[in-house]
Amino acid sequence: MPKFFIEQFINSKKDWIDKTFAKIQQRQPSQKTYHVGEEFLFLGKSYALQFYNGITILMKEEKLFFPKALEFRIQKELTNWYMRQAKEIITTRVAYHAKQMKAEYKSLLFSDTKSKWGTCFPDNALQFNWRLIMAPLMVIDYVVIHELTHTTEKHHQDSFWRRVRLFTPAYKQHRKWLEQHAHLLSV
Ligand SMILES: [Zn+2]
Repeated sequence: MPKFFIEQFINSKKDWIDKTFAKIQQRQPSQKTYHVGEEFLFLGKSYALQFYNGITILMKEEKLFFPKALEFRIQKELTNWYMRQAKEIITTRVAYHAKQMKAEYKSLLFSDTKSKWGTCFPDNALQFNWRLIMAPLMVIDYVVIHELTHTTEKHHQDSFWRRVRLFTPAYKQHRKWLEQHAHLLSV
């Protein structure tokens, strides 16, 4: 096939190729570069990366202060920091909602899966993705309530959603937020 013919074909499909490529990119977790000013989410708020001479990671006044001395392993340090926050905050939310809902769960685990936000296993052990801690608290609460509802309703039928709505009336909005922002919840 002559080269110009192939080029002509690709050019005629250029719009489609560009559009599809943009769509695929949107779905993939955004790749962080760790340059000054890069935005990181925490509890739904955005913090701009800044290096400083301290020894701990601090989130304040819309800035993420990161120790200059640890810059060489920033991804690992940030991941550990987010995981610690996730464990602390999500554990508290699970305990709070379990009490409100009179739900019983066996244990609480944290996962590193990229696609799943929460799981309720058949034995009522609960598992949450630590990346959830980047989402607003109301969205975290929705996922917690969703999984706690599964301790008694092992399906997604009407009765399940009725019970979810009882404890988080705007759950559809929270679910939509997760769908739209999933690709931003990365470290
Ligand atoms: Zn479910």
